[in-house]
Amino acid sequence: MTSALSNTYSRLPVAFTHGKGVWLWDTKGRRYLDAMAGIGVSCLGHAHPKLVAAISEQAARVIHVSNLYEVPEQEELAQRMTKMSGMTEIVFGNSGAEANEAAIKLARYYGYKKGNDLPTIITMESSWHGRTIGTLAATDSEKARTGFGPLPGGFIKVAYNDIAAIKAAGDAEPRVVAVLLEVLQGEGGIRPTDIQNLKDLRALCNERGWLMMIDEVQSGIGRTGKWLAHQWADILPDVVVFAKGLGGGVPIGAIGACGPAAGVLGPGSHGTTFGGSPLVSAAGVAVLRALEEEKLLENAATVGAHLKAELSKALLGTPGVREVRGQGLMLGIELEKPCGVLTARALEAGLLINVTRDRVVRLLPPLILTAAEADEIVKILIPLIKAFNAETA
Ligand SMILES: *Cc1c(COP(=O)(O)O)cnc(C)c1O
Repeated sequence: MTSALSNTYSRLPVAFTHGKGVWLWDTKGRRYLDAMAGIGVSCLGHAHPKLVAAISEQAARVIHVSNLYEVPEQEELAQRMTKMSGMTEIVFGNSGAEANEAAIKLARYYGYKKGNDLPTIITMESSWHGRTIGTLAATDSEKARTGFGPLPGGFIKVAYNDIAAIKAAGDAEPRVVAVLLEVLQGEGGIRPTDIQNLKDLRALCNERGWLMMIDEVQSGIGRTGKWLAHQWADILPDVVVFAKGLGGGVPIGAIGACGPAAGVLGPGSHGTTFGGSPLVSAAGVAVLRALEEEKLLENAATVGAHLKAELSKALLGTPGVREVRGQGLMLGIELEKPCGVLTARALEAGLLINVTRDRVVRLLPPLILTAAEADEIVKILIPLIKAFNAETA
């Protein structure tokens, strides 16, 4: 049978029927250790009883009403999100790209209200913010952008981790209103920012009246061992972008705003039909509650450190391995040559991984991962990487 699907994904030849914890089973009954969690989404793993119960109970009551009415579940989720992020108001949407669109709109509106005729946003090299037309303009990926022009202007790209480059961009373009960045780039190859850089950027944004906007779509919701990755630097941004892990698997995105970014978007300036529905909000509440109750931030930090140490011990100094990096359960292993074939080989060996930026093996396991399960990842992955590196191109 020919597929009725558009060919937008070159999919691996496997379909899953069900999961439990960090494990997934395919149609042939084979078990896989899921070290990708659906690209960092299924933070509670599969079929987590608390999330299943919250979704089932909410679906049986009411799934959707629209934002024309009060949605208590959305209010409860927003309360929890403001508490964990330090933001003072939340805007809901349905995906990471849509949430970044909201952040871009907020920054532009912030400039517009001050009479700025070309509100400009500084973004980073090797960044990823989504695949809509607006977020592609903010994203630095030739592969994703090519063929989709004209993309909107109003973005300046600078080198990542280079505060001087950001300063220079602001000197050259007085209409800058905001800086948008990931503090641990995901699609960009698990590339971290250092803490001092973030502190300096916070000070620079204050000095120039720019909004500091952090895309925590991949790095947030406990993944690095804090609620949000920038919290390792002990700074408070003006805008935080959320998605992926927030719903534990149901589609949800959001931004949080505070300080100068609070109150910028008013009635009529932004909206969404689906965003923050009772169903997804109940799921979000269940996720945040379970992360807290089960101490999964701490787990991500300790099991992540263990996994990184074991990978480093086995791989660093071996031929073909450049670096093991990342934090918590957001880890990357950079090799010397393109290694996309490793995803299929790992699948064959019963492990779900992914490769980003051609040469970086990426691990984003559920935050419920145990040390024993981390050891299982190491046991499967290390021989695959070593054998791959030993092959002559
Ligand atoms: C995945 C991702 C996005 C895009 O999210 P979608 O839900 O795929 O639109 C945006 N920013 C970052 C940092 C991401 O990792």
